[in-house]
Amino acid sequence: MIRTRFAPSPTGFLHIGGVRTALFSWAFARKQGGTFVLRIEDTDLERSTPESVKAIMDGMHWVGLDYDEGPFYQTQRFDRYKEVIQQLLASGHAYLCYCSKEELETLRAEQEARGEKPRYDRRWRPEDGKTLPQPPADVQPVVRFKTPLTGSVVWEDAVKGRIEINNEELDDLIIARPDGSPTYNFCVVVDDWDMNITHVIRGDDHVNNTPRQINILLALGAPLPVYGHLPMILNEDGQKMSKRRDAVSVVDYAAKGILPEALLNYLARLGWGHGDEEFFSMEQFVEWFSLEAVSPSASRFNNEKFLWLNAQHIKAADNARLGELIAERLAAANVDTRHGPALADVIGLVKERVQELNALAREVDYFYAKRSPQAEDVEKHLGADSLARMQRFADLLAALDSWSAESIHGLFKPFCADEGIKMGQLGMPLRVLVCGTTQTPSVDAVLALIGKEEVLRRIRN
Ligand code: GLU
Repeated sequence: MIRTRFAPSPTGFLHIGGVRTALFSWAFARKQGGTFVLRIEDTDLERSTPESVKAIMDGMHWVGLDYDEGPFYQTQRFDRYKEVIQQLLASGHAYLCYCSKEELETLRAEQEARGEKPRYDRRWRPEDGKTLPQPPADVQPVVRFKTPLTGSVVWEDAVKGRIEINNEELDDLIIARPDGSPTYNFCVVVDDWDMNITHVIRGDDHVNNTPRQINILLALGAPLPVYGHLPMILNEDGQKMSKRRDAVSVVDYAAKGILPEALLNYLARLGWGHGDEEFFSMEQFVEWFSLEAVSPSASRFNNEKFLWLNAQHIKAADNARLGELIAERLAAANVDTRHGPALADVIGLVKERVQELNALAREVDYFYAKRSPQAEDVEKHLGADSLARMQRFADLLAALDSWSAESIHGLFKPFCADEGIKMGQLGMPLRVLVCGTTQTPSVDAVLALIGKEEVLRRIRN
């Protein structure tokens, strides 16, 4: 049984890199009929906040990545971590280290002075035939993991291929602090083991943790999961995404009017591909997904392509749903959609023209109340001749028995011929008079939706 997990640390918002990690982990589980677990890694008590936990949960909900188990909280598992620490001490895979902060600092300074890489010199590590110092009474010990001194850790990374790290490069990692609280890498190991995680799919900023985690798992006699490290997402300039410069929080995307399915679709395409496919649903993605097809190198965010995809998803989305999604934006802009055409119909007409929900919300107002036109549009399209002509056209509209885009359209050609004008000389003034803007979809369809009475009222005013 395949089991994957998403294990965010609640120290901020839900980052789109995090969403991509969650997405790949989720898709992998879904594809294999496995289980997707959500684990909140909140052991860093100083940086973890309940607001951030909420932001992560809300973000997961918004994008629609459903999990089968969890959320589990590491802070609720301290007893279990302590138990495993005892187990490692008892089996000789861990030891107490009484080095004080000052001693470690002195050691570090000496090593640096010699031009060496600073590292703990293992003075408290028990070895055959070695006499350990007498434990000082005034120092609370930390617990260190006894990293093998020789050999190497090798794993076949599902994304990056074979990775080998020499144990000589690894320190004797602190697994419990002086107050007994467990450290990050250790908690991850115990959790992945206890939660029977078969595939650890995470950002490649964790590659350095993996050999440490594998060594601990081996010491525990625990099975090793498959590891797959996903490359980073860079911004358009090829830099690491930053909170200051780039829209990185899921909330930013929601606020911009991105559809969650478009965000997932785009993130799926960042560093993974299936032929030339760009626009697809999550069902389709799950069917196609494999870790082998994930690119081992970083990918760049391309805003133009992203907005194009969002536009495709807006086109494909249900109009009533889009109406609900823009309701708050319309209320904020004082657009009252209770009278006039059905919002879903209006959306159906204008949505081809927009790339974001914000733009969609801006495009529907004139169906409910005329916009006040720009002076230059009035000047250009509503001269005295044009106004008189619009009155004549209004009479034709008034005489129509049936009110539809087709019947309205039927008036255009003969009217233009009679008046000796081009279509634009009818369409543009009509738009400005009725809508208050020249930027509208096809004018017959717009008039049809606004309704006969209201159209005539707007023209004749
Ligand atoms: N909590 C880690 C993070 O937020 C993820 C750890 C993991 O996936 O192993 O980056």
